[in-house]
Amino acid sequence: MQPVQIYDTTLRDGTQAEDFNLSLEDKIRIALKLDDLGIHYIEGGWPGSNPRDVGFFEEIQHYQLKTAKIAAFGSTHHPRKTAGTDPNLKALVAAKSPVVTIFGKSWTIHVRDALHTTLEHNLELIHDSLAYLRPHVETLFYDAEHFFDGFRADPEYALTTLGKAIEGRADCLILCDTNGGNIPHTIREVMAVVKDRFPGVLLGIHAHNDADVAVANSLTAVEMGAVQVQGTINGVGERCGNANLCSIIANLCLKMERPCLPPDKLQRLRETSRFVMELANVQPNRYQPYVGRSAFAHKGGVHISAVERNPETYEHVRPELVGNRRRILVSDLSGRAAIKRKAQDYGIELSASDPVALQVLEELKDLENRGFQFEAAEASFELLLNRAMGRRKQYFELLGFRVMDQKLKEDKEPVSEATIQIKVGGTVEHTAALGQGPVNALDKALRKALEKFYPQLTEMELIDYKVRVLPGTPGTASQVRVLIESQDGTNSWRTVGVSHDIIEASWQALVDSIDYKMYSEEKNHKPK
Ligand SMILES: [Zn+2]
Repeated sequence: MQPVQIYDTTLRDGTQAEDFNLSLEDKIRIALKLDDLGIHYIEGGWPGSNPRDVGFFEEIQHYQLKTAKIAAFGSTHHPRKTAGTDPNLKALVAAKSPVVTIFGKSWTIHVRDALHTTLEHNLELIHDSLAYLRPHVETLFYDAEHFFDGFRADPEYALTTLGKAIEGRADCLILCDTNGGNIPHTIREVMAVVKDRFPGVLLGIHAHNDADVAVANSLTAVEMGAVQVQGTINGVGERCGNANLCSIIANLCLKMERPCLPPDKLQRLRETSRFVMELANVQPNRYQPYVGRSAFAHKGGVHISAVERNPETYEHVRPELVGNRRRILVSDLSGRAAIKRKAQDYGIELSASDPVALQVLEELKDLENRGFQFEAAEASFELLLNRAMGRRKQYFELLGFRVMDQKLKEDKEPVSEATIQIKVGGTVEHTAALGQGPVNALDKALRKALEKFYPQLTEMELIDYKVRVLPGTPGTASQVRVLIESQDGTNSWRTVGVSHDIIEASWQALVDSIDYKMYSEEKNHKPK
């Protein structure tokens, strides 16, 4: 049986979701994370339609990916141009990605009303675009847009478009349920016809979730012989979203004996799911199957006692398989095991019965209840682990800070100023700085005070700052969570802070970020 390959389009189709936005930096980070997970193809964007995506393709070339291949996305050439003169196809070649995916029209109403051309000419567009790209790329995929709806309207025409893509020498034809309105029953019937017409041709599926069955449609397609599944992490995407790869991957590996990730990678699924949401600054869905915080949470007393005796009583799979954990209100041993695993990531040996593991777990529970999240703030987590082990060093002592915002005129930007007093060893340092906003001023004042003692801090800069209002208390009294990303030219790391006070939450994350810089240098014995 052909292995199933996973094609992620979080960075392209996913970003078409309402309120889901990624910066170039976020996109690079997510691509690396997906590569870590063992995803086969990562669609980075549409270079012909979106100039920001061009930057992604330039930037990603500087990274050595382990398993994933980067794909650039685009359409068949413009009806009033030829393949050789079309700027969209040129942009795809210029993206220099090993994979190019183009979509073409399968549905007659789209050819006439969206593309404004004839059915005959559309067939040429498909063939010529693929034939033009073929010599320039390693791997060439064809997305048959609206295929299932097109097939319903005119089966013969829809099949003919696929024939043209085969003539144009596409490596795989991906049948798309672009409007997301089809159900597994239709997918099965249509795929049977396609397979019958084009035996031996590699097929894929790209499903949207408007009828809430995108995952089921994708799995049905695999059952019918599809060897590529396209989707997004957590199912983000236009309208109701794309097929959710987290569920698809878990189902393929655990339910269908069609492993699609390298061994041991499945347990990184939850972490990847959280990472994407944190970077997009979107609240994760706690009820999401497999990876949600509540996916293996047991609340009912009867459930808890049964699960403690035999987890299979109320769990369809073992949560650790997807990197999740069982959450029950009494003695949480699985949590301790998770701490042990996480500690191993940082080269720290703990046994699950170690009192330190228990202490970290208690602290972690307390912090999580207060709104801390460490999935995207590994640096803060590592510092927490070290503190519990009595290894965290204090690099400075805060004697106090003050932040002032002054607005002098309605149409003038306010001016922020921070003063700070710290103590390093026996020396007290007192400085002030202006900034763009209070957090920036505080950050500048703190570094200015510390750089005298720790000159290596000049290498470091804050590159991203995200604030999330946490659910619970409404209005301005809400808790906020601040996530900061810093870098020093070699590494980047993320830290977190939570408080009712945005300055305090930022302060916590800033201090962690500075502590982490110093701590990681000592850890790596980097000569200074
Ligand atoms: Zn789509």
